Amino acid sequence: MHIVVQVALPVPLPHLFNYLAPSNTPVPVAGARARVSFRNRKMIGIAVKILKTKDLPSKNLKQIEHMIDDQSLFSPTLWQILHWSAQYYHFPLGIILNHALPLLLRQGKTLQEKLHSRWIINKAGLEFKISSLQNAPKQQQALAALRSQPIYSRELKEKKISTTILEILRSKGLCDLSTYESQITDWHTFFLVKDKNLKLNNEQEHAVQAMINNNHHYVAWLLAGTTGSGKTEVYLNMLENVLSHGKQALVLVPEINLTPQTIARFRERFNIPIDVLHSSLNHSKRLAVWLRARSGESAIIIGTRSALFTPLARPGVIIIDEEHDNSYKQQDGWRYQARDLAVLRAYKENIPIIMGSATPALETLYNVRQGKYQQLNLTQRAGNAKIIHQQLVDLKGQQLQYGLTSILLRKIRKHLNDDNQVLLFLNRRGFSPIFICHDCGWLAKCQGCERYYTLHQHYRQLRCHYCNNHRQLPDKCLNCTSVNLISIGVGTEQLEQQLTKLFPDVPVSRIDRDTTGKKGALEKYLSNINRGGKHILIGTQMLAKGHHFPDVTLVGLLDIDGALFSTNFRAAEHFAQLYTQVAGRAGRANKDGEVLLQTYHPKHPLLTTLLSNDYFNFAEQTLLERKLLQLPPWTNHALFRAEDLNNEKVVEFLIQLRKLLDKHPLKDQSTWLMGPVPSLTQKRNGYWRWQLLLQHPSRKYLHQLLSNLLPLIKTIHSAQRIRWTLDIDPIEN
Ligand code: ADP
Ligand code: ZN
Ligand code: ZN
Repeated sequence: MHIVVQVALPVPLPHLFNYLAPSNTPVPVAGARARVSFRNRKMIGIAVKILKTKDLPSKNLKQIEHMIDDQSLFSPTLWQILHWSAQYYHFPLGIILNHALPLLLRQGKTLQEKLHSRWIINKAGLEFKISSLQNAPKQQQALAALRSQPIYSRELKEKKISTTILEILRSKGLCDLSTYESQITDWHTFFLVKDKNLKLNNEQEHAVQAMINNNHHYVAWLLAGTTGSGKTEVYLNMLENVLSHGKQALVLVPEINLTPQTIARFRERFNIPIDVLHSSLNHSKRLAVWLRARSGESAIIIGTRSALFTPLARPGVIIIDEEHDNSYKQQDGWRYQARDLAVLRAYKENIPIIMGSATPALETLYNVRQGKYQQLNLTQRAGNAKIIHQQLVDLKGQQLQYGLTSILLRKIRKHLNDDNQVLLFLNRRGFSPIFICHDCGWLAKCQGCERYYTLHQHYRQLRCHYCNNHRQLPDKCLNCTSVNLISIGVGTEQLEQQLTKLFPDVPVSRIDRDTTGKKGALEKYLSNINRGGKHILIGTQMLAKGHHFPDVTLVGLLDIDGALFSTNFRAAEHFAQLYTQVAGRAGRANKDGEVLLQTYHPKHPLLTTLLSNDYFNFAEQTLLERKLLQLPPWTNHALFRAEDLNNEKVVEFLIQLRKLLDKHPLKDQSTWLMGPVPSLTQKRNGYWRWQLLLQHPSRKYLHQLLSNLLPLIKTIHSAQRIRWTLDIDPIEN
């Protein structure tokens, strides 16, 4: 008898690789890491299948050098989901399994599950009058720290708290010391809810009750709540219920929401270990979070898209905030949709999932219609927040000052005079989008992308927004040497500069990718703004994503017309979401809000629908249109993307691919093909980009066709040379 192990390796090949099990060691287990040599390279793979056989599949099988783990690194549910993903996304299992592990584990670091002891407050400690310790400031400080969250022994040094002081508190019966094993089950004993002083309104109460009544079983909830309607408050109440049963929660947020403010809201409420998977976290911290989640030590794990793969000892609920956000779709490599995989995970774990948004994705609303998701509504703004007044301003024939009409300028002045804040939305960063020679018309263009550069005055650079390539600002025209170079059009950088001149007494904050690149920069802006008082905020779509600006009363949208005439069928949906989210920043707290939208096309149906109805009416109407046009979510898309330095070769490759499809026996009457057509960004970094779209009303059928087609692609002559990928359920086509 031989033991053959089928190993998934992180290489772009669709199959598994056979190896002999190492001799004189226990039989490998599926899900454990194996160190192997592959094409003369050392590699770490994951054992997927263990076969006992008399006949070897091949004579010269290599032996696994050694098994790193004696247990699986994947829970049974994650294991299933990742296997399902390999099928569904038609993507190599080895890369997918790898993606789901922290980097240090991919590199072979051994699992060391240590005993951790931890100090936790108890009921007596919480009710104790801290001021009575005024003669013992160190005890006072330690007790205060414990009240905000449990403290691991390993953190004591960093927090400048001594064990002696904690022992004293313990002898007074004010806190406990808990070790690793007991922590797994001890949540309900030390679990405490703090600072809960809001009374839920009827809709919030109804939503929470509906969720709780389901006894922690699988239901996919869509929490459809207007901006500022108190969705987070609903999450917190549901969490309270789940956590009090000693179960863990996974909270996914869009990248940009991962600010200390968001996290503070969770920490302020619960006295439990909360772990945050920041992108700035180093790899050993990342692994530590992974281990704590897996052992059941941490109660809440908050993170972006990839946090979805965090193992949980006792999963209780998954929450996806701003579920419509595009950042949940991975845009390179394995292009998964984290929202869909999260629903699958909740289903497999049999736990509830809550998807919250003021502007749900049409896919999600479609699933509600199909009876797959349950919708709960929050239609009232929480607290005393007022409704907003919206107005369109026709740009035609208007005198503009830095892109602002006189009506908008007047309003800005008025709102600032009332000590309120103004938010101006301009989705164009940089100083100016066009930099041109006034004498000969020469424009500077990025050679790699065939697109014009954007002027960035502060850096004295021309930058390409497609490939990030940049060059020094020329002082004369490269065509006619004239020095008469001028800029046309307004970007956020210029708007900031001009408004600072116009309103010298008012602080101006610009929030875009250029100003928030540094760690902590965004937080600094947000806290400055939330300190209150008059303020002008200028920003790109970064501003639209769920931040609270309680003092903003006026929102101006400067130039949105580009969104009205896009060829992408999803553009309307994205614009409606953006508009509703941006407009939703106005008039929170106790103040009336006003929204002004400047456009050359005030009669455009998209604008009139949005302004006279709410987002849900728009969505309803758009879903109907998509049905008539047979577009997703009513049908399914798979997109082949291809790129090469040689434009003709890309097209030729896709033409061959199309031919393969056209003559494929599985191609039926409902299979619809579009292309090859150029991608939206037709050239990037020197690479020409084209695509071929495949559509079918049946998801199952489409995937069958793809499974049959993919092995044939290598018969296309240029398939080895051309870079191509398959994007399932693409959102950018
Ligand atoms: P959303 O997540 O829907 O944007 P939040 O949960 O952040 O809304 O709530 C918006 C604001 O309203 C917050 O300042 C929150 O503290 C407040 N709020 C939420 N629920 C209530 C309530 N029931 N009563 C009073 N204020 C509330
Ligand atoms: Zn010139
Ligand atoms: Zn470029």
